[in-house]
Amino acid sequence: MNKMYGTIMQRISLDDELFIFKPIDYLEGELCEFDGENHFVTKAGGSYYLASDINSLDSQFDHVVLNIIDEEDLLNNYGSDSIDGALSSYFEECSNKIYFGICDFDLDKIAIMNMDLYELLDNVFNKNDNIKEDISGCNFKIKYSALEHLTNLRGEDIKKILCNLKNNAENHSLRENDNVIADLKFIEYNKSDNDDTLEMSSEYINEMFNTVCSAIKKINKYDELKEYLNKTEELYISFASEFINNEPKELNKVFLKMAEAFKAISLYPSAKKVKEMFNNVYDQLNEANKYAVSIYKEYENKKEDIENSSKLKRISLNIKEIKARFDEIIIGQEEAKKDVIQAVFMNQIMDDRANKNNCLLVGPTGSGKTLLAECVAKTFDMPIEIIDTTQLTTPGYVGADIEDFLARLLASAKGDLEKAEEGIVVFDEIDKKGSTSNGDVGGRGVLNTLLPFIGGTKYDVVYNNRKYIFDTSRLTIFATGAFTTVQEDITRKSIGFGEESNQEDIKYKKLTTEDFVKKANMPAELIGRFSVISQLSGHNIDSLKKILTSSKTSALLSEKEKLEAVGIELLWNQEYLDAACKKALTFKTGARSLKRTVEESIKEARWEALCNLDIYKSIILTEKTVQNNLDVILVDKCDNKHNLKDIIESSEKKELAVQKELVYKK
Ligand code: ADP
Repeated sequence: MNKMYGTIMQRISLDDELFIFKPIDYLEGELCEFDGENHFVTKAGGSYYLASDINSLDSQFDHVVLNIIDEEDLLNNYGSDSIDGALSSYFEECSNKIYFGICDFDLDKIAIMNMDLYELLDNVFNKNDNIKEDISGCNFKIKYSALEHLTNLRGEDIKKILCNLKNNAENHSLRENDNVIADLKFIEYNKSDNDDTLEMSSEYINEMFNTVCSAIKKINKYDELKEYLNKTEELYISFASEFINNEPKELNKVFLKMAEAFKAISLYPSAKKVKEMFNNVYDQLNEANKYAVSIYKEYENKKEDIENSSKLKRISLNIKEIKARFDEIIIGQEEAKKDVIQAVFMNQIMDDRANKNNCLLVGPTGSGKTLLAECVAKTFDMPIEIIDTTQLTTPGYVGADIEDFLARLLASAKGDLEKAEEGIVVFDEIDKKGSTSNGDVGGRGVLNTLLPFIGGTKYDVVYNNRKYIFDTSRLTIFATGAFTTVQEDITRKSIGFGEESNQEDIKYKKLTTEDFVKKANMPAELIGRFSVISQLSGHNIDSLKKILTSSKTSALLSEKEKLEAVGIELLWNQEYLDAACKKALTFKTGARSLKRTVEESIKEARWEALCNLDIYKSIILTEKTVQNNLDVILVDKCDNKHNLKDIIESSEKKELAVQKELVYKK
């Protein structure tokens, strides 16, 4: 086996983070592996860490071995008749370099880089001819003693010296070819001014590295090279900062290392030296880049898995369960429910922005269009914003801006941009903007501005004094409208819509894009953006009755629940339901008037009951109550029924007072 030689270096601290490694002597020894690390073990049994340019080592070691060479290489490279002669040249070469170590406290490691000692000393001491004379031509020990000057300086001064060194070197730099066109076009760090989030990806990391390296190879002018390397250092520092608090945190260290390496390269005093150094460390940089890319790729895969699993979790309900939830709230409208559930369900399965489903819901007022969108939001846990389209104006006009609505959506998502971007936006009464009869001349302009919104575009949105870039491409969009002109037109022609028809009997013909474009004056491109067009039917007495008695949104059931909380039972008979629904229909606002009708019929009796909770136990609503809300029955705790009209009369009141006493006596 060939003999091995190495140079033992002593570590000298310049400041907390900067060291010089001073060659002490050469030694013969052999390489041994301990705990997976290579050590140089001398004949006398001393064991030293190995270090080579840019390699790192534990900072606790004061002595390390560098420039390991075997006997054969030694004789070949430092060709001499004797081994002693070769060793002396070898050591002379080591001593002509200065080895700087830069500490990485996080890793407890020191990165070592070497520079030409003559050049350094020349630049540092070029004002001092004596020292210059002293050092040229004297042996290495004296050369290093000149460095005592350096070691006596504080860190800041060292940095200044290094800066000077750079400046001097700049002036002396090789102007190899002034015509070299350096590709200084630096890919800007993909970060917009107001956005703190970086679009980091494994591809981006790799692309940046390749761009940077090929540019460094191309640039020949020293100042351009340095500028480019400084930018590269900044780039990697910004990459690193991205991972101080974010996963994968390991990348923080890797990118800092890379930043340091580019910085170290930039410190070399000439273009030639910089390039030499760059070539020397290219393999290590490439390895570091590959490592960073692989870590990020792993993270991306994991993230994707998590996203997929969270998506699946979100739709962990199967479609039948979802439908059952909708049925609890929305009465009837079977086709629309099926259309909408499927559209959103499919959107949730995969993030396919290009083929995302948007829904246009057509139906008379109060048929449940908005309720359907709200039900989607609740079931799929999505924030929702309902925009009154009639309020929107084209830019430059006074009115509500889309940005304001997006800010509200962001607020509903409690500032979670990602959640808001996957939310629901409902453009209510979209048909009104197509109509010119209401004098809204800018209507179509507004509809056209909705096109990019629906297709996917970015808006600057301010929420909580912070600017967000809101991407609309993942929103689920609903548009709703009665489209009465179109509906009436068709129903008249097709099924003979007559004066005697009432809303409950209207059966709508399936609308086509042409109907919307020609009769409702909607831009064809807009209608084209809705993959799902669903028609809701108007309510009739039966459907309204069902809403009152079985929907979770029923005003009657909710009133019953609230009164129950204070010990009053709310009762009604079939006749009450018939009469109330009939009355609600006369308002021509669909199920929307049910709440008002119920509220009207109940409010007088409720007042009386709430004022006398100790007397009454129930309220009974009847057919008559719908006509006159004083015509309502209150049942006292002794099961006596009282008509509110009578109660109000004072004689009845006296009687009640007697009963009240009886109740107490019991
Ligand atoms: P529009 O069709 O005008 O958007 P909404 O969805 O806003 O009507 O309905 C108004 C109210 O009427 C809802 O809050 C709900 O209480 C009731 N409603 C309307 N349609 C239905 C329905 N099909 N099932 C249950 N409630 C309904």
